[in-house]
Amino acid sequence: MTKPLLIGLTGGIGSGKSTIAKIFKSLGVPVFNSDAEAKEILNNNSKVIKAITNAYGAVYTENGLNTKKIAAIVFNDTKALEKLNGIVHPEVKIAFENWVSKHSSEKILIKEAAILFETEGYKELDKTILVVSPKELRIKRVMKRDTIDEAAVLERIETQMSDEKKKSLADFIISNNDKKLLIPQVLALNTKLKA
Ligand code: ATP
Repeated sequence: MTKPLLIGLTGGIGSGKSTIAKIFKSLGVPVFNSDAEAKEILNNNSKVIKAITNAYGAVYTENGLNTKKIAAIVFNDTKALEKLNGIVHPEVKIAFENWVSKHSSEKILIKEAAILFETEGYKELDKTILVVSPKELRIKRVMKRDTIDEAAVLERIETQMSDEKKKSLADFIISNNDKKLLIPQVLALNTKLKA
């Protein structure tokens, strides 16, 4: 039996990854949401909770991880961020591998992740899709979605890898702008990937 083709789906904040993941799902393609999985692991994996508490102190409350507190610790501290990633990423990797084995009869599988080219993770995938969208549109969409101000969106955009760099590493690009229709692009890519 042939193995499924593993495809990474990434893009900057508000580019439209989740929207595109939804379209793929509606076409019957299983999607693994790395960020949702990481959240689940951060709140429920006892090994991870222990390691994070050891490294950063009391960052958990009865409602789970205090994300604001941990974000404040790792923001602008590369070493602390690397350490946190070193605790969480291996667990997400295991969860992904288990998920892949459960879907071994599929032709294609998608791994949606905000961070893909920033780590070596993308090298374990067969193909990658990058979603690009104009900065102004991303800002507008995220401000509306998260009810945050422009400066807060910009701050997050600035900390992410540039689209130019990502473009040089991606196999396929989906343009999620006001001019190009999204669904036909996803349909075409779905056909191509399954061929
Ligand atoms: P994040 O990295 O922040 O999770 P994302 O890349 O997953 O973002 P989405 O959540 O898919 O981006 O899109 C951001 C917002 O813009 C959402 O509210 C979504 O509904 C909206 N949006 C995305 N694409 C379009 C589009 N083509 N037309 C209209 N709204 C869109």
